[in-house]
Amino acid sequence: MADLKTTCETVVFCSSAGHCQLDCDYCIIHPVVKREPSLVYEDVRFFLDEVGTRTFFIFSGKGDFFAGYPKRERFLDRLLDHDVEVALDVNGVLLNEYPELAEEKLAKVRAVNLTLHYKQVRDKRVEKAWETNARTILEKHRGELILGTIFSPLLSDLWEEGLAYYRDTVFAATGRKVWAIRDCDRPFDAAQEELFESLLERYAAVVEKEHKDDFSAPFAGREAVLCPAGRDYFRIWNDGRVQGCPWIPGLADLGNLKERRLERRNAPFRCTTPRFCDCYDIHQLGKMGYEDATPALPVLSSGAAR
Ligand code: SF4
Repeated sequence: MADLKTTCETVVFCSSAGHCQLDCDYCIIHPVVKREPSLVYEDVRFFLDEVGTRTFFIFSGKGDFFAGYPKRERFLDRLLDHDVEVALDVNGVLLNEYPELAEEKLAKVRAVNLTLHYKQVRDKRVEKAWETNARTILEKHRGELILGTIFSPLLSDLWEEGLAYYRDTVFAATGRKVWAIRDCDRPFDAAQEELFESLLERYAAVVEKEHKDDFSAPFAGREAVLCPAGRDYFRIWNDGRVQGCPWIPGLADLGNLKERRLERRNAPFRCTTPRFCDCYDIHQLGKMGYEDATPALPVLSSGAAR
């Protein structure tokens, strides 16, 4: 996800979609999510009514955000009627109602993470749709934007073809460079390392090299953090499940939006294992508290005690 910033009090990492149109060999979700339930507008509105605070939704995770609902539902448009900000992680095959959003709603889309999954785009013959959607995002988006493509050892025979496609289409039209993102689950062999380096050199005008996050780095040397998980930070899944934190058993079940249940903590959680992507995002957003400093946010008195 892009370098995240928000002015919201509550942050939600939300896997809203139960479907993806693509079938990437390297997808971190096994199997790729297909035709599972997705969140609908009323589920999210229940959450907003319950927490009653300005909320930042980071839509990422399982399916593709726009593949999770039909355009006629106007999920994004109606969500942006609320006091929210959003970040979108998309594969670019569908944009649903995004191009028609009013300017004040576009301004609430703080970050977009657009990925080119070249083999799938080619095999499913959706090159034109991807190019058009990528150009629409580049033209309309005002906030942080990462435009990347995955380099997986499983598909190294297509690395150069994918870069040439990007160069001749979106780069030729916009001059926007693409990030080269290594498959996070599979290391390259020596020949692939050599090919990767040579492509970075030959396509230097088109490619921006990968940025790598170290999720535990901000917490080095600390015994514990005071985490807002379950109070001002949540994970919400496409089937409605709500978690404060997926890594801590006591915070892993805080309700279900489809059953209209939400149990919210009223104090920070003292955590001695801050090393996951959630922890990093919370820190990056300025929401993590520390015992040797004033907590990032005051303890809330509203919401159900836990
Ligand atoms: S693992 Fe990370 S997100 Fe979960 S409670 Fe600990 S610090 Fe918070």
